[in-house]
Amino acid sequence: MAESEPLAQASRRVLIVMAHPDDGEFGCGATVAKWAAEGRDVFYCLVTDGQVGDAGDETITSEELAGVRQVEAQAAARALGVRNDVIFLHYMDSRLEPTLELRRDIARVIRQVKPDVVICQDPTVRWSGQGYINHPDHRAAGEATLAAIMPVASTRLAFPELAAEGLKAHNVREIYISSSQNADRWVDVEGFIEQKIAGLRAHKSQLRDWDPGSSVEQWAKDTAAVARKHGHDMKLAEAFKYIRLEDD
Ligand SMILES: [Zn+2]
Repeated sequence: MAESEPLAQASRRVLIVMAHPDDGEFGCGATVAKWAAEGRDVFYCLVTDGQVGDAGDETITSEELAGVRQVEAQAAARALGVRNDVIFLHYMDSRLEPTLELRRDIARVIRQVKPDVVICQDPTVRWSGQGYINHPDHRAAGEATLAAIMPVASTRLAFPELAAEGLKAHNVREIYISSSQNADRWVDVEGFIEQKIAGLRAHKSQLRDWDPGSSVEQWAKDTAAVARKHGHDMKLAEAFKYIRLEDD
């Protein structure tokens, strides 16, 4: 087996659902750039506006920050080649919970966008190693997105108000869960690292003294080393937990 399974050509529409404005660039920016370059129709849905990520600026308010980060998120999406405007759900940063309301709101976006593929976060990751606690918003967004895919988006009457809005049930076919500790699919991202770096640099309010150019290629090399252990011959990779839903 030379390469991890590529995304099916039939999977034309891609929806990325992330808690914070820069989560997508960190977890899957090069994959998004690759799929956009392949001509797929890519949509970003950001659950919060990142209103508390002040990165040490003690003068800015959360309202001001929300505006700054929405502009940055749009610029980051453009850097990755995403043409559609970013969809914001405007939930409050650092207070996210996997409520029925959030599940419904993400399902509404799924029924509107009708994606073949959804990239989302991993609700099972609580920590990593001895030096990292996963942000609870990441877990909440992942939990709510998986529940929004199945059953809410795919079951007509799961939330009757969605049907009343004229939104038909929609079946997502493939799910790529980013930043997972159970990765079983690797995307070869050679040629797309510079775009990922540009996407991360677009989040100017978050960078402080850090230059993404110093780290991103090494992360992709480290991920590719794991992919090779699983029999996938690649030099630069991003990793995902993969789920393929059977058509009813
Ligand atoms: Zn985040």
